[in-house]
Amino acid sequence: FFDTVTYTPPDAIFELTKTYNADLAARKVNLGQGTYKDENGNPWILPAVRAAKEKIKESNHEYLPILGLPSFRVLATELVFGKDSAVIQEKRVASCQALSGTGALHVAGTMLMRAFGRDRTVYITNPSWSNHRQVFESVGFGVKEFNYSLSGGVDMQSFLQSLNEAAPKSIFVFHASAHNPSGWDPSPEQWKQIGSIVKERQLFPIFDAAYLGLTSGDYDRDAFAIRYFAEEIGLEIAVCLSFAKSMGLYGERIGLCAFVSRTRTLATAVESTLAQLIRFEISNPPAFGARIVAAVLEDVDIDAEWRRNLATMSSRIAEMRLQLYQELTELGTPGDWKRLMEQKGMFCILGLTPDQVQHLQNEYHIYMAESSRISIPGLNRSNVRYVAECIHQTVKR
Ligand code: PMP
Repeated sequence: FFDTVTYTPPDAIFELTKTYNADLAARKVNLGQGTYKDENGNPWILPAVRAAKEKIKESNHEYLPILGLPSFRVLATELVFGKDSAVIQEKRVASCQALSGTGALHVAGTMLMRAFGRDRTVYITNPSWSNHRQVFESVGFGVKEFNYSLSGGVDMQSFLQSLNEAAPKSIFVFHASAHNPSGWDPSPEQWKQIGSIVKERQLFPIFDAAYLGLTSGDYDRDAFAIRYFAEEIGLEIAVCLSFAKSMGLYGERIGLCAFVSRTRTLATAVESTLAQLIRFEISNPPAFGARIVAAVLEDVDIDAEWRRNLATMSSRIAEMRLQLYQELTELGTPGDWKRLMEQKGMFCILGLTPDQVQHLQNEYHIYMAESSRISIPGLNRSNVRYVAECIHQTVKR
């Protein structure tokens, strides 16, 4: 029966983690997968999340409603758009709980396939997160890339040109903040330029929001592009929100898929369709992560603690960017390291060749994606000098 099935190579980044875990070297560094680590290189359970878990420990194990935990949906929607936003006041947001950011993208894709049909193209950035293409292809869309970044920042000329040349009603996947992997985000002024073309040409934006709060340490600030599009210029948009990074809930698979519609009636129709899509795919979503997020957001003190936790994570990332920059500059390592300081979010592409990346892994047990994208939180005060020295040796080779 399976003669037509050919071997599919494993996902590169998960495979890298596996190889790293199996590496017995006493000194090894994982700069691959984008997960936050504390100063000692360990996973960090956010104090806000600990407090929330304490509050929900007596919860039962019944099914959630099809669209997810109601309090979670309300609070997560308010978090993204702002409590007093017009889109919430006017009840123009349709939402459902989703299996983290990836699940939210999948639901969004499925919904848009229902609404738009197959002849629309989904545009993703080049470079982009390795999963974008296959998520949208899996629901039947053709996917095209548009040039997004240059070595020194967002390639606005190509970006705007792609928006201008795409067929009307094409779908564009934007990274709401902390573009993965480039680390370059449009400035607020640039988002405004992008927004005006999106509006004029009737394109449909999906905001992939995996790093809100972790980018600058301030959630509201990181939600600028989403709010500008939905509130200021009144566009219909989708938001695919993940709590993996912002609350350290990687394994709980908790996210939100939200659609802003022109009218309340349309939002009701969209939400009813979301319910049907969820029902036939997973029936109803898992409860634990949703309960944690709701318990954080509904308690003033725990919420305040969480905002401090976000600042802790983003400032440790900023400190590590600075330290790696200083070490490499001190060593006189050839390369353009300024970008370490200028880019946003968890990642930085170092600009090494695949051969140099392999050498770092084989020789020094330093693991990173083949593109030389590093996950900055894998650095800490005890290993940053080592990493800089090994990069130096490798580049000078
Ligand atoms: N989008 C981007 C750009 C990402 O980098 C990630 C996580 N690596 C995600 C979405 C979704 O991750 P998750 O499904 O774990 O929330």
